[in-house]
Amino acid sequence: MNAPVSPIERLHLELPELDWITDPGRIARLSQDFAWFSPVLDRQLKDKRADAVVRPRSEDEIRALVSACARLNVPITIRGSGTGNYGQTTPLAGGVVLDMTGYNAVQWVHPGVARAQAGIRLGELEKHTKPSGQELRCVPSTYRSATLGGLFGGGFGGVGSINYGPLAAPGNVLGLRAMTIEPEPQVVELRGEEALRMHHLWGTNGLVLELEVALAPAHPWLESLVVFESFDEALGFADALAHAPGIVKREVAFLASPVPDHLAQLAEHLPKGCHAVLSLVAESSEDPMRQLVRTHGGTMNYRKTAEEVRKSNRTLMEFTWNHTTLHALKVDKTLTYLQSSFVPGRHVQQIKEMEALFDGEVLMHAEFLRNLDGLITCSALQLVRFTSEERLDEIIRMHRERGVRINNPHVFIVEDGKAGGALPPEIIEMKKRFDPQGLLNPGKLRDWPVGK
Ligand SMILES: Cc1cc2nc3c(=O)[nH]c(=O)nc-3n(C[C@H](O)[C@H](O)[C@H](O)COP(=O)(O)OP(=O)(O)OC[C@H]3O[C@@H](n4cnc5c(N)ncnc54)[C@H](O)[C@@H]3O)c2cc1C
Repeated sequence: MNAPVSPIERLHLELPELDWITDPGRIARLSQDFAWFSPVLDRQLKDKRADAVVRPRSEDEIRALVSACARLNVPITIRGSGTGNYGQTTPLAGGVVLDMTGYNAVQWVHPGVARAQAGIRLGELEKHTKPSGQELRCVPSTYRSATLGGLFGGGFGGVGSINYGPLAAPGNVLGLRAMTIEPEPQVVELRGEEALRMHHLWGTNGLVLELEVALAPAHPWLESLVVFESFDEALGFADALAHAPGIVKREVAFLASPVPDHLAQLAEHLPKGCHAVLSLVAESSEDPMRQLVRTHGGTMNYRKTAEEVRKSNRTLMEFTWNHTTLHALKVDKTLTYLQSSFVPGRHVQQIKEMEALFDGEVLMHAEFLRNLDGLITCSALQLVRFTSEERLDEIIRMHRERGVRINNPHVFIVEDGKAGGALPPEIIEMKKRFDPQGLLNPGKLRDWPVGK
């Protein structure tokens, strides 16, 4: 008697023309993301695997796959480039990983806005916007490889958030086109607030096909590192630069000692034990920025014009946000990290308090940005000397008790991370509308556990 055909085998038989990846090593790799930054998630997720990976090239191929998965009840985990940090693209219930990177055309670029398919890499999209003097409003430091759909589904913001806030700030994402997960998939255009109901839901409540995003004017950015002997002066400079309304900027990061000592590739510019401020400022704003450097007693130890950055293909952007964590983990495997946000107006004081409280155990790396209300504050990606999961929980609790919000990066349930608790009804509605069978990334939403 023949062995029964599994749902995955049925998919292969029904859709042989799709680009299937069946090699176990590649499936294992494409089932993982950067959850290994967290020793907790690494332990929980490292053995989780899809049964197959498929890379569709057109909307018809996506529709055929979705339809067959819905009929056969096969879970789908959507993947961009897999640079997420919380096992967002790691399937907990097997099934198919739907790799979107083959679905990557630019639809159009207009003044102030662009539209593209979700699988396009952000760096690639900017190649299309730059000729008209425009760039993306906020990009993660992984912009070279990360996709537009992945930024929307799993990201927060990044370089540029000092001007435009997080991606979730109304006006940054203008609309999207999404597919329902049903035997007869529907394709729907969502605008504004409704579109944002799929943001940062880790691909659990809709398959995004296209995104329409607002653009910013692209300036020639001067990349620099300013170093200081004093923690307070460095932080004061970063805060002043972030606030200075006349200085055009794209990025301001504060790296307290000993974080700069972990950036091996920049070691010649970062004297041991220094505090550093990394920034991207419009070349036309260099003079007023240098004035601030003098006022705060800093020294500019690294300076690259936009043209030098372009020619070298090396940018300080890849030392900001969670790239700082990545570089540090490369030189010290005992480190992990936190993600936190501070109260605007109290952020400088709170950073100093946390520095004093966790001296040597939690190493301060803060990114300046505007919050959803447009106020300048900091989001920190502190490095933590990891000793135990219990101590990590205690550090998180101690921050929260002192009014510092922690977006816990050591959890794989949406509600336990940045969402910070139960999801609002309109998001649950979206889940029911776009994924009525609960097939999208099962196990990541509390009310839709694996197998429900
Ligand atoms: C070194 C490092 C630095 C980082 N820096 C930043 C940073 O500065 N800012 C920031 O916000 N993040 C940052 N991240 C996290 C991550 O790189 C970004 O959020 C990135 O935009 C994710 O894109 P991706 O294509 O890799 O998405 P993936 O990791 O592939 O996917 C992320 C989530 O989105 C979902 N998804 C993907 N495509 C779709 C789609 N078409 N429809 C619906 N859901 C979808 C997936 O299911 C998954 O849950 C960093 C990560 C690392 C490792």
